Amino acid sequence: MAAKVKRSRMKKTGSKKKTDVIRVEDLSPPRSYSLEVSGITQSLVKKWLLCKRAFLLSVNKYESRAGKKSYAFGSLVHEVLDKLYKYAELHARKRPVGILSDLEEMIPIWIDDYILKNRKKDLRAKSHDELETDAAKAEALLIEYVYTFADDFKLKKFHGIEEVSEVDFNGTILRKKQDGKYYDKNGKLWLMEHKTKGKIVEESIMMALKMDFQNLWYCYMEQLLTGERVYGVLYNVIRTPGHKVHVNESIKEYKERLRDLIREDPAHFFKRYPVTYTKKDLNEFGRELYMILSEIKSKLKYPRFLIRSTPHCLMSFPCDFLKACSCGNMNDFKKRRELFPELVEEE
Ligand code: SF4
Repeated sequence: MAAKVKRSRMKKTGSKKKTDVIRVEDLSPPRSYSLEVSGITQSLVKKWLLCKRAFLLSVNKYESRAGKKSYAFGSLVHEVLDKLYKYAELHARKRPVGILSDLEEMIPIWIDDYILKNRKKDLRAKSHDELETDAAKAEALLIEYVYTFADDFKLKKFHGIEEVSEVDFNGTILRKKQDGKYYDKNGKLWLMEHKTKGKIVEESIMMALKMDFQNLWYCYMEQLLTGERVYGVLYNVIRTPGHKVHVNESIKEYKERLRDLIREDPAHFFKRYPVTYTKKDLNEFGRELYMILSEIKSKLKYPRFLIRSTPHCLMSFPCDFLKACSCGNMNDFKKRRELFPELVEEE
């Protein structure tokens, strides 16, 4: 990392202690980063489009020391969904007999595994009670999900679950990890993308999905990789229940109450948006991507171009780097090992 380090001396209980303060304004892209070798993911390109400063901090691998509340529940649901589809893929011969009850039995085990694995990280952002409520919420949602979309597990043949891939695009390595893919009854290839959302804006979601950067990135990459025409993305949204645990209600009672609510109105909690992309849509995306990557390549050499875009500091969520930009230093941030944590394969 090519950051100048300002050394300051601090007096602490009579002794002198050296502290290194890394100032945001001194950061530049690390020499080891390049589009040609390190490559780029759709989320990193989105950061570039939103705020060059967020891109700069990300290629320097910074992340907040305090975890993020909003991500913890989504990551839990996402990981268990992946396991559900992987299990169905692996046990294809057993289907349709017994698969749903198997999955119902496995869901609480996978949730416990996730919580154990991420306990240290998630407890930085959430209390023990909040994690327990998350687990109950996820269990109620996912068990009802399995019965609502029984055909996904009994009949449909999802494959490529959590597949990590890379492809060369005019000298840049594009990277992705996608949730899954399948062929519809007419033999057309579709990708699947899972999301958890607290709020779904019904009137505009389909219009926005027609241009969704992540969906188009996945379809475009899949076509480059396989040469196969990708018909679209099945955008699978799970609504996060906003229901709280009642006073004197046990977690078990809370879970049962949620399951009843979801069973009564599954269409409210589970939304599916099949979004088709034409050849023209994908060609247009390819042209735009080429221009964006050319801009990144040329500006990477000049850190002074990597300026803040403050209108994006507080969009639907506060930006991950809000504290760094606001205080001007990286004191509350640490460096992670991986440049693209989203591509790391699950153990
Ligand atoms: S806090 Fe604002 S200026 Fe800083 S990286 Fe985020 S969006 Fe950019």
